[in-house]
Amino acid sequence: MNSVLYNPDKLMTDRPLFHNRRVCVVGCGAVGSYLIEQLAKMGASPDAVDFDVLTLENAAKHSSLIRTPEDAGRNKAVCVSERVKPFLDQGCTSHGIDSDLCLLGPEAFADYDVVFAALDNFAAKVLLNELIRQLPPERRPLLIMDGTYGEMAQSVMLDNTEFCLRCLMDESWLKDSAVRTSCTSAPIRQNDGLAPIVRTSARASSLAAHLSTEQYRGYVTGAPGAMNRRLTYTAYPGLELRVSHPLPKRNCPGCAIQPPAHLRWLRGSVLTVSLREAMQQISEQLGTTDFELSVHRLHYKEVLHSCFIVTEYCRACGKPIRVLKHAGRTFPHHLLCLECNLHGKQPYLTSDLPRTLLYAFTPSCEDAIQDMTLFDLGYPLGAHIEVIERQGAFDLLDRDKIKTTFFALDEDHCQMRQIQKLSC
Ligand SMILES: [Zn+2]
Ligand SMILES: [Zn+2]
Repeated sequence: MNSVLYNPDKLMTDRPLFHNRRVCVVGCGAVGSYLIEQLAKMGASPDAVDFDVLTLENAAKHSSLIRTPEDAGRNKAVCVSERVKPFLDQGCTSHGIDSDLCLLGPEAFADYDVVFAALDNFAAKVLLNELIRQLPPERRPLLIMDGTYGEMAQSVMLDNTEFCLRCLMDESWLKDSAVRTSCTSAPIRQNDGLAPIVRTSARASSLAAHLSTEQYRGYVTGAPGAMNRRLTYTAYPGLELRVSHPLPKRNCPGCAIQPPAHLRWLRGSVLTVSLREAMQQISEQLGTTDFELSVHRLHYKEVLHSCFIVTEYCRACGKPIRVLKHAGRTFPHHLLCLECNLHGKQPYLTSDLPRTLLYAFTPSCEDAIQDMTLFDLGYPLGAHIEVIERQGAFDLLDRDKIKTTFFALDEDHCQMRQIQKLSC
């Protein structure tokens, strides 16, 4: 039975070409909300990812799918994917996930035909580029990135064969997002400061979404010369639509990222498999218990978060505390003891008191850590987990002896259709 409300005979006949194509929109604000609307009306199945909530102050930039004022305060991804449902074709779906991009790994994107980067910050674009580059080419989605500036709109579609997303960014833009950290403690995440106001219009946002979906339509319909191009719309007085062919950037750190040479599969999902269970599966596959799992390495805002914090000290009173959190998911308020947190104290101490940090998990880790899920230990959904067999090597100079294998969990990709929220 046909459950759609509208008359499909009044729409373009190419819509079935987009059926069964899963697309993911990362960032569901001004441009992203228009993207999801258009993708649904083209006949695709758009999923949505965003950690942020809708605000009244941005209401005039969004697609009217979002209701004002009643949707203010709701998660952007969950709200837009719900509001778009009446416009989906028969059999198509839209699923919204309330999540920070830092909680997703490469395999989370492996099922998608294309990932739209409708992100307003460079750090997230660099991270998304890294995740997509870590996927082997046969499971790597296309990337379409858009943006606005004043009344100008732009979109780039790339398949990662000629250039990457980072090639399109000036390295000097990324420096500003670097966070200063003390050299003695683990770099934890810093709360984002207030974002500067960027003036742009709903027309520019919707135009950027139009350019992106037109590029996607060009790809799906096999239009020659559509791939690896940038479309730039300039408003009056210099009204113009320009097509250009971006070039790779020399010594691009993004282009240097490669998928793992050996990727093996574990059963389950990082959300439910404990470290103990994962180690059992790994030892069955490798035929040894002499291995370690490197703690997840999160590169974000030009900072590497690569350790798991077991114990720290309260940054207000100095009392030792157990943290049991990945450094990339640890914010200043996590480094306060219960009492100081209750009394609303501010973290301010930066001394060199003893702390316990792990850079790898081994079969000899304490029980409390063995019982934690891989996700709670800091591995993102869809992680590539690095497993190192030292085979007698003492340090990296013994590199010949060290064997590295990457593992991923075979149910992680399905979770992108099931989970509602990921939080640290
Ligand atoms: Zn590049
Ligand atoms: Zn305290």
